[in-house]
Amino acid sequence: MNKVLSVEALHKYYGAKPAVAGISFEVGRNEIVGLLGPNGAGKTTTINMILGVLQPTTGTIRIEGRDLATDRSRALACTNFTAVYATLPGNLTVYQNLRILGMIYDVKQLSSRIEELLVQFDLKAFRNVKCGLLSSGEQTRVQLAKALLNRPHLLLLDEPTASLDPSAARDIRATIREFTVRDSVGVLWTSHNMYEVQDVCDRALFLSHGKILLEGDPKTLPREHGKVSLEELFITVAREPLTLGAG
Ligand code: ATP
Repeated sequence: MNKVLSVEALHKYYGAKPAVAGISFEVGRNEIVGLLGPNGAGKTTTINMILGVLQPTTGTIRIEGRDLATDRSRALACTNFTAVYATLPGNLTVYQNLRILGMIYDVKQLSSRIEELLVQFDLKAFRNVKCGLLSSGEQTRVQLAKALLNRPHLLLLDEPTASLDPSAARDIRATIREFTVRDSVGVLWTSHNMYEVQDVCDRALFLSHGKILLEGDPKTLPREHGKVSLEELFITVAREPLTLGAG
């Protein structure tokens, strides 16, 4: 498979304490990989290192084969993200937000790219509405439009459906799946919703105390470990990681 992200032996220490303790994984084109784990497992720290916001203590991150440490701007040019905690300025309209971020990303033919995204995310009616006035579902659609402005090959989605009702969340999952295949994107997706992970992810990584304890197809992983559901497996991994495999 064509790898868009390769992470090797990644560590992040805060003082003597490891937040990420030597993880290695890959994400392919057309692949949605779920990054799961209890609160404090190291998911956001991992995502922030891949985004170049946090410096790893040791380890290597390659995006499309480009080493983030030595070829940062080219590696990040084909990357983007959404996160519930990184909201767009609420006093700017949808169009103004997309325009300013598009200029920051140096998007070619920006006006036509924005028009395409307004159609794709059903945002035409909101183009001149201030982002602060939008519902959570509408704001998520704007965030996704923003994340696709630079036609990324790697997309990091930190709990993209966290504040959405089940119907809006289902629509967003369908939209993300659609553009993952159509634009050949690799997606790393964090979520605490196990139903969602089974529905949308091709592969899941279970992180606990900064280490990957399990990896596999979220539809078959529970059975492989003698559990009836992904939620039960998650709780076992979170509470008693050493008992895994005992069935
Ligand atoms: P959640 O699901 O709650 O968002 P998470 O898996 O994203 O959790 P992280 O935010 O990556 O977890 O945190 C991993 C560990 O690193 C936690 O123990 C956290 O307290 C610690 N940590 C994160 N940032 C810092 C920091 N700046 N200084 C010290 N410790 C930190």
